Amino acid sequence: MLTSIVLVAAALFSAQVDEDKVGTGCDFCKNRGAVACERHDKHLLPLEEQVRFCSVAASCKDCQGALLVDCKRCNGGPDSVKLEKRLLTFKGYLENPAGPEALFERPMPRVVTDHYDLIIDVAKLKEGSRKLDGHEAAHLMAVELEKAAELLDSHFGAKPFHNSRRTRIWYWNTIKDHKRVNLELLKQNSAMGFSLYGVAPATSDWAGAKGLDFKAMNVISNAVHKGTHLRLSNLFNAQWIGNKKAGWFDVGAAHWYEDKLFQRVSTYCIDEANNDLDYEGGKWRAAMRKYLNKNKDGILPELVNKVSGTLWDYEHALAWSLYDWVATVHPKALKPLLLGYKNRVESRDLFRKHLDMNVLQVEAAWREWVAATYTPKDPKPRKKL
Ligand SMILES: [Zn+2]
Ligand SMILES: [Zn+2]
Ligand SMILES: [Zn+2]
Ligand SMILES: [Zn+2]
Repeated sequence: MLTSIVLVAAALFSAQVDEDKVGTGCDFCKNRGAVACERHDKHLLPLEEQVRFCSVAASCKDCQGALLVDCKRCNGGPDSVKLEKRLLTFKGYLENPAGPEALFERPMPRVVTDHYDLIIDVAKLKEGSRKLDGHEAAHLMAVELEKAAELLDSHFGAKPFHNSRRTRIWYWNTIKDHKRVNLELLKQNSAMGFSLYGVAPATSDWAGAKGLDFKAMNVISNAVHKGTHLRLSNLFNAQWIGNKKAGWFDVGAAHWYEDKLFQRVSTYCIDEANNDLDYEGGKWRAAMRKYLNKNKDGILPELVNKVSGTLWDYEHALAWSLYDWVATVHPKALKPLLLGYKNRVESRDLFRKHLDMNVLQVEAAWREWVAATYTPKDPKPRKKL
């Protein structure tokens, strides 16, 4: 199986231009053999170059997404190879449209990264005084999602191939399109945002939903949060831990990477009835410091055995803080904890094995760390993308 995947990949990437026989370019192309295609927005170009595929770039009449065109004054150079490789990669994606592209049979902004496959089919998103179209928003989202993905990969010693599928993230301009995708592709008869965990992770929502409000920052931080749930549900083996007694880890992680990038948490996605939650404005360091000071009774014996959908709003913050402690003080324990939870091992056994503490000792160490580390004032939430 693995060999055939490697062979297919090798065939896909073998360029038509023979690398040994390429020319050396000329003065006009600065010895590259190709020049930049001029049809692309200059400030988006670095973002185009970071992604594996962009359907908007692919629709360019001059370069079909290679972002380069052959130099007319010579017979090629090193960038001719780059150009061909890019066209071949793009061809692979064009021949395999995403579910919604096939469903609606119309072009939509789709951006593929190492870890994600995004469609932002939204006309306009607000970003301060600016308005972004779906294409630009998809590239900005790709940047944030990849930042979070790399951090998560470093925490879990994971490589992109440890996820069996790229996580698909879709946002829609109309509730009608979102509902159709929910029903026909995710098999969910609902107008609410929906995530499919496990083997083929995907999430869909209407960009105008409450809390998203067609604002780029809201939509992108929502994607980082949901992307974390979905990637974890697919990482190493396809098992969502949120419906096992590991809700704190599932929810805590999703909040953690969202907060890490935006210094604020605004997404509560597991139990859709709780979509409107807001605990302490999503700024949790000072709040947790205070909460733990006031509530001295044991919290973890109950918290670490709950499933994701049953956490109260303040328990979301407690879960985030406990994940914060593990990720900061015991980062090497993250992977064995995740794998243990996927195998239905309970917290008390996992904590003993991988943290060398029982649940109450974990609670004492975590409380001590929070008191010593969280300042009474939270850092300011990020204002711009
Ligand atoms: Zn040239
Ligand atoms: Zn693009
Ligand atoms: Zn072009
Ligand atoms: Zn969530």
